[in-house]
Amino acid sequence: MIPTVVIAGRPNVGKSTLFNKLAGRRHALVSDTPGVTRDRKDATAQLRGKTVRLVDTAGLEEAAPETLFGRMRASSEAAVSEADLVLFVVDGRAGITPADEHFAAWLRRQNRPVLLVVNKAEGRAGANAALEAFSLGLGTPIGVSAEHGDGLADLMGEIADRV
Ligand code: GDP
Ligand code: MG
Repeated sequence: MIPTVVIAGRPNVGKSTLFNKLAGRRHALVSDTPGVTRDRKDATAQLRGKTVRLVDTAGLEEAAPETLFGRMRASSEAAVSEADLVLFVVDGRAGITPADEHFAAWLRRQNRPVLLVVNKAEGRAGANAALEAFSLGLGTPIGVSAEHGDGLADLMGEIADRV
């Protein structure tokens, strides 16, 4: 079985950017399975020589629960339940929000291995958020910039070690 790595988090934190970077040609994109559901996207990727199935989650816009946390949970519940590893992505520029905190608390109860990723951490932008992110109780945050590529090699190594 190929291990499944699910990318979860608030809208706009950079989940899809990270998904595309991790699944990019340089990392041997093997297949794409679009349209299984409208809000999820899969790709098979090689990370440090390990084959993983990456799943990008997206917010459900229709018939969604009222709160942002509710939408995050609804959109990622099925994916998280089958995850061998969850990448919980927060925004290093926006900082940790109440929705992040609710989602983290819910995630801790799912008993899945989690890597906490502070994205948009290019330059010094993520340093404060990384400190704040410790309080989420999901281990040591990993600072990356999905857009600029900072920290992605380390993140790939970390993922490969954990699956
Ligand atoms: P998603 O809603 O979580 O999937 O987020 P997207 O991947 O669609 O990205 C949301 C926005 O954040 C886009 O405008 C991206 O260009 C931007 N973004 C993503 N990664 C980074 C990053 O590392 N640094 C900065 N500054 N912006 C980023
Ligand atoms: Mg997205």
